[in-house]
Amino acid sequence: MKTNQVFTEATSEEINQAAQLASEAFKTFSKKSGLEKATFLRAIADEILAMGDDLITMYQSETGLPEGRAKGERGRTMGQLTSFAAMLEEGSWVEATIDTADLDRKPIPKQDIRKMMVPLGPVVVFGASNFPFAYSTAGGDTASALAAGCPVICKSHPMHAGTGEMVAEAIIRAAQKTNMPNGVFSNLNSSGIEVGIELVTHPDIKAVGFTGSIQGGRALYDIAGQREEPIPVFAEMGSINPVVLLPQALQNNGEALAKTYAGSITLGTGQFCTNPGLILGIKGANLSNFIKVLSTEIVKLEPSCMLHPTIIGNYERNKQTALQQDGLTVKADFNDSVAVNHARQTIVTVEGETFLENTTLHQEVFGPFSMVVECKNSEELESIINHLEGQLTGTVLGEKEELEKYSSVIDALQNRVGRIIFNGVPTGVEVCPSMLHGGPYPSSTDSRFTAVGLHSVKRWVRPFSFQSWPNELLPAELKNNNPLGITRFVNGLNTSNKI
Ligand code: NAP
Repeated sequence: MKTNQVFTEATSEEINQAAQLASEAFKTFSKKSGLEKATFLRAIADEILAMGDDLITMYQSETGLPEGRAKGERGRTMGQLTSFAAMLEEGSWVEATIDTADLDRKPIPKQDIRKMMVPLGPVVVFGASNFPFAYSTAGGDTASALAAGCPVICKSHPMHAGTGEMVAEAIIRAAQKTNMPNGVFSNLNSSGIEVGIELVTHPDIKAVGFTGSIQGGRALYDIAGQREEPIPVFAEMGSINPVVLLPQALQNNGEALAKTYAGSITLGTGQFCTNPGLILGIKGANLSNFIKVLSTEIVKLEPSCMLHPTIIGNYERNKQTALQQDGLTVKADFNDSVAVNHARQTIVTVEGETFLENTTLHQEVFGPFSMVVECKNSEELESIINHLEGQLTGTVLGEKEELEKYSSVIDALQNRVGRIIFNGVPTGVEVCPSMLHGGPYPSSTDSRFTAVGLHSVKRWVRPFSFQSWPNELLPAELKNNNPLGITRFVNGLNTSNKI
């Protein structure tokens, strides 16, 4: 592992150079075939693995996360890259849509029109602090943007700049080995917000991917919207991931659920965007028992290290802000001394009415903190859900029959979230095509898209139509003989047949 590494703040000249190179690279990279881009993505995965333990050691030294997490996250990152490669090799993701001509149509002839997805242009990716591999340099945003045919400039997260540099080297080696154009990927370092702002305002940049705080994501969204040419910012931001405890499940299974949730709240020191920060139940003995078991179990767990001093500083500050609000009761707070940067897990409770009146209590406390709201009845529970900001996930813990009985509560929850979970925990985001990781604002800036899974590629493309274009000059995806053998929507039917 390299020691005493010096990271330099990217200059305006370097930002400009990266953007211009990306713009130049776009001309050829956007025309690469699916197979060529797939080879590139697979080569990135191979190069990351080839860095072996040096990369794992760097990751651990910068994050304080254990080896198992580092290796698991590396595996996830490689899995993301290779699943996008497989998507490109199969090819149908471009949504080729063809309406053939009918020149005899009356009163006016119908023209031949063919549509498919094409890449937007150079994309800026803001590396996430809480996923140094899977949502940073070569993470989901980068993999999906490269799959789409968009060059990427990564604004490395300063708290894992060394990991970022190493992964960037792997990407650049892969680009060289697979004949990708210079500028298809750049990595820029900074320890302040200026570099990111300069990138987002650069006229050669056409879209932005971001994972982090609501303040950061919103600031970049506003900046991008005020450009002469506004561009999309796909930001995945805060979420308190409400969990609804239905009465029958509480009665039948309350203790086991409490133990499971003690683990979920503290998983990764609570540093997951899907961390369950809000638990809603109807007042009574069963809810009281759940709170008791949850509080007892959570303090049995050893506190763990947070990612960086700013994150633990934010955790302590946001927790204090919550604790200073009227009507809150602390049920569990790890009391023993803890090592530096280690976070104390905390459980608090509040009455439904108090929660409804005070929106400060609705804000994310990023870390191992959760608030249990004791509602007086299901009407109050539903009203609370209706007053929540947009969330990534919502979880229902109940018996199957309760889903119908509480259908209006479930409907309200569905309206506020991007993914609804039955009898599980929100932490642990499966990477697969059916995953939706996003949700109504402010959990994301555009609830129509996902930041995880194959469909995240749709953030970096736009639909484009060819009208009456000569067959031999059309992209392979739209040619009459369907040389790629992909599934297309031809004259109203899904088919892989030739025309
Ligand atoms: P962050 O502060 O939002 O920063 C993420 C990235 O965006 C960094 O590279 C940062 O640059 C940049 N950035 C932030 N504000 C900016 C602005 N106004 N203009 C331009 N660039 C900006 O997130 P973080 O460092 O990952 O963690 C801080 C807090 O974010 C946490 O305490 C937590 O509350 C929240 N967070 C939430 C999630 C989630 O998924 N919900 C995930 C991670 C973090 P610099 O670092 O160079 O300033």
